[in-house]
Amino acid sequence: MSHAGNAGGQPGTQRTTDRAPVLSEPSRAYAELVAGNRRFVGGAPHHPNQDAGHRAAVADGQHPFAVIVGCSDSRLAAEIIFDRGLGDLFVVRTAGHTAGPEVLGSVEYAVTVLGTPLVVVLGHDLCGAVQAARESAATGTAPSGHLGAVVDAVLPSLRRAEAEGVDDIDGIVDIHIAQTVETLLGQSPVLADEVARGRCAVVGMSYRLAAGAVRPVAAVPAGFATLDTPADPAAPATV
Ligand SMILES: [Zn+2]
Repeated sequence: MSHAGNAGGQPGTQRTTDRAPVLSEPSRAYAELVAGNRRFVGGAPHHPNQDAGHRAAVADGQHPFAVIVGCSDSRLAAEIIFDRGLGDLFVVRTAGHTAGPEVLGSVEYAVTVLGTPLVVVLGHDLCGAVQAARESAATGTAPSGHLGAVVDAVLPSLRRAEAEGVDDIDGIVDIHIAQTVETLLGQSPVLADEVARGRCAVVGMSYRLAAGAVRPVAAVPAGFATLDTPADPAAPATV
């Protein structure tokens, strides 16, 4: 990979990692994530790259193959649900996977400095942040403290859901995931340029808490994400 996030490392250090080949293509990175999720769903995780040897091998630099912009929900631990380890995923999480300036900057860092080829927006069913925003909109009351900022960030998705006639919570979550994908690309010309050049893709995925399976709900470029998820036969094959 041409972008070697090697800050603090020693030039010329021989990497002895046994990790999978460096994934610089969006489609390969996506396939790796889907494969890991299938292992997790099937109860047969490999727990790759979590041993002391790998810890030492990646200490001189990182080459994560995917950025995960996920909800902070404690049941949505990225390395667990995608069966990955140290150095694999660059994870940015906020309640309701909101996309403010620090999130955008973190994504841009991973994509441009580390050369990460895939950005995943990861939401989930029964999301508390989306439910809180819906309750706030329904009652006309704003939550106290900084929680209001989370609700405000989700409200545009609620308005979009209302305009589209979607009122079930999981349908709203799907719209919010797609909205977050659009926000990332709309607010970050840097990311949009990387996608336009074919060096990166952005996929929105929804995770089901009970089943543990992800399914794609949005993708840029269109048609990028394909996923045949046995655990969720209703999932779209392509987005
Ligand atoms: Zn959530």
